[in-house]
Amino acid sequence: MSPKVLVAAHFAATVHTTHRRKGAAQEPYINHPLEVAMLLAEHGAPEDAVLAGLLHDTVEDSSDDPEPVTLEILAERFGAEVAAIVGEVSDDKSLPKETRKALQVKAAAKSSDAAKQVKLADKISNLRAIMSAPPASWDHARRVEYVGWAGRVVAGLRGVNPSLEALFDATYRTAMESLAREAAST
Ligand code: ZN
Repeated sequence: MSPKVLVAAHFAATVHTTHRRKGAAQEPYINHPLEVAMLLAEHGAPEDAVLAGLLHDTVEDSSDDPEPVTLEILAERFGAEVAAIVGEVSDDKSLPKETRKALQVKAAAKSSDAAKQVKLADKISNLRAIMSAPPASWDHARRVEYVGWAGRVVAGLRGVNPSLEALFDATYRTAMESLAREAAST
């Protein structure tokens, strides 16, 4: 294994030191990029995608820091290819949330093969989190909306990594079934 993977994991852990997941359990944020990178590695994604998986939220989530992480910094430390993938999977935080979500659906199909795999693993991790530890303020309708939106993004990411796609599909089905059961029981 390349030591770069651990260097990237440590770099991401440092950036996310004070960050927490939105879920009720308030897990340390780093659990999320570690899960994304693990999914990528387990499903045969190239090392640059695994590294980008570890680093995928470092630019977006440090934009208000005194010394934000930039794509230039990532390129210096991890190479231009990894920085380019992170650039592709980062949202433009200056845009309103709904615009960003619509752009993700539009941009999916135009992504590079590596970025498509990072985006897929990110959506799998996020769906798991929504089901196992949803943010306290997210009602049923909001969770249904989120899962449906993730499915629309993933429609544009297909054709690169069938085993990750199959895992997303299984996760999506489980999430929708569980939400349907929840609706029926209330
Ligand atoms: Zn993410």
